[in-house]
Amino acid sequence: MQMSKFQSISDSLEAMRKFSEVYAQRTGTVFCADLSVTAVVIEGLAKNKDHYGSPLCPCRHYEDKLKEVLNAYWNCPCVPMRERKECHCMLFLKPDNEFAGTLQRINSKDLLSHIN
Ligand code: SF4
Repeated sequence: MQMSKFQSISDSLEAMRKFSEVYAQRTGTVFCADLSVTAVVIEGLAKNKDHYGSPLCPCRHYEDKLKEVLNAYWNCPCVPMRERKECHCMLFLKPDNEFAGTLQRINSKDLLSHIN
């Protein structure tokens, strides 16, 4: 039982890690210079994916998360990101952002080291 839950979380983390890399490359955005920010946001997306079925943005407060998932506005990539490249979680940053790093990749080992 414990093992299957662990496996499920790992699968979602890996899925969101890959999504983040591909989406950063597709949009010409980069990860934060502080990769712990990147890792914590990816972890939050993975947890929401596990609990609610969609990677609801982890940086906002919701009265009703299931309703928000159905609404889809804040499912990652959210509408502000898709329309204006605005990611208030600082997962996807425009290269000229003062917090921008240079990377569009984060490997599984680095990801885990920042969230464990
Ligand atoms: Fe994803 Fe938008 Fe949240 Fe950024 S602000 S992590 S793009 S949902």
